[in-house]
Amino acid sequence: MSAVNSYATPQDGQPAPFAIPTDLLIGNAWIASSTGKRIDILDPANEQVITSVADANVAEGIAAVDAAAAAAAAWAATPPRKRADILLACFHGMMEQQEWLAQLISIENGKALTDARGEVAYAAEFFRWYAEEAVRITGDLSLSPSGANRILVQYQPIGIALLITPWNFPAAMATRKIAPALAAGCTCILKPAEETPLTALAVAEIMRRAGVPDGVVNVLNTSDPGPLCSAILHDPRVRKLSFTGSTEVGRILLREAADSVISSSMELGGNAPFLILDDANLDDAIEGAMIAKMRNAGEACTAANRFYVQRGIHDAFVAKLVDRMGAMKMGPGLADGTQCGAMINRAAIDKIESLVADAVAKGARIELGGETPAGGGFFYPPSVLSNVQPGSEILHTEVFGPVAAIIPFDDPEEAIALANATEYGLAAYVYSDNLKRALQIAERIECGMVAVNRGLVSDAAAPFGGVKQSGLGREGAHHGLLEYCEAKYIAVSW
Ligand code: ADP
Repeated sequence: MSAVNSYATPQDGQPAPFAIPTDLLIGNAWIASSTGKRIDILDPANEQVITSVADANVAEGIAAVDAAAAAAAAWAATPPRKRADILLACFHGMMEQQEWLAQLISIENGKALTDARGEVAYAAEFFRWYAEEAVRITGDLSLSPSGANRILVQYQPIGIALLITPWNFPAAMATRKIAPALAAGCTCILKPAEETPLTALAVAEIMRRAGVPDGVVNVLNTSDPGPLCSAILHDPRVRKLSFTGSTEVGRILLREAADSVISSSMELGGNAPFLILDDANLDDAIEGAMIAKMRNAGEACTAANRFYVQRGIHDAFVAKLVDRMGAMKMGPGLADGTQCGAMINRAAIDKIESLVADAVAKGARIELGGETPAGGGFFYPPSVLSNVQPGSEILHTEVFGPVAAIIPFDDPEEAIALANATEYGLAAYVYSDNLKRALQIAERIECGMVAVNRGLVSDAAAPFGGVKQSGLGREGAHHGLLEYCEAKYIAVSW
């Protein structure tokens, strides 16, 4: 524990503002698990244990529901302006600790400090955005078509929410759920990923210090999420599930939620295509490709997974991408100048290796990287594969790492068909200097978000989410708030 707190001392010498909690947050207190069990947390850059956190059991899951239920009525009745003020204090609380939090993220997740700093700013922005939304939950009033009565529609908090988050953005995935839940007037239970619990625990402590009342946010870590989450979802007081993670686990949770007909928002896997047309500006496309592929070292559900490049620009694009990715510095997230940090764990490296081996066996050419370095830490170098053949696994599976798979095409119709040939539909990227063509293509790609001549879609003010098996519902924007509200219709005669 002390190791984490001393690591997480900003370079400017400011001490950590508080000791990072490692227990369960239930109601008004941090408590150890009744079983005494702990989960070891590894630093992916050196595979050393950095600390451990309390491992919650099912009874503690229900205790968290009790705490969320006890706080629910008062929080729902808290004036929106007051909820907004608290959320704004959470934004400032996070930004005041940006450097320290970024270091913590970097230590437990492995990402480069520059990526981690960006994540803290993005994560905090959800607090600011939803502070602004909290006072703008408007309803509707209309006359029924028959003229017999008024139709009054009011948005009410949906109820207690279970929020399950992944390890790739340990701060942002938490705040993207907590902030709209609180803005809407809901109380919640956060279940962070077992690989990266510390950031969520630190954010929860910042929220407490910013004035979030006891029981409004509860945090449980567990080594066995299935039974714990199932018990919470079968408690009739719980009315909302918001999950970010794999499609496979999303399907399990949807089945669990079905038993009590719980409203479910799902942000699941992606397999983003990145289309570059001959008339694209090459330098712009490279800039965009670097962000879409290499932000977070490729560990993002929006990461470009497949580059479809029109024949006329193909060779120049491959050569420039190899130059740029080849110049990136790989290393521990906190080391000076690191641009590509460690992957999360050994399983991630195994998956990348097997996808690259499969692509190469089917005819792909390794233009850069493609080999796991010797030594400790979960590292995989920036890699470029060209001539990737149809049927290669890497075109159908999220690589979730720093590997760019490139496929040439002749006719844009062919590229659109290839882009849509997946069960996923989260993000896509299109580069063309002909905006009319780019927008026509954007409309035809089956996904929830398209970046046109940009390498980044994420924005707290925009609706984030997927179609097909990439998910249900949206996070961010006003859409994200409505996921935590129920429309109450009152028929009135006057
Ligand atoms: P990844 O493959 O990226 O680790 P997962 O979908 O396995 O993604 O995990 C995302 C989140 O879902 C994590 O918080 C994890 O603990 C949680 N999780 C995994 N399995 C279950 C389950 N059966 N029930 C509830 N949560 C789960």
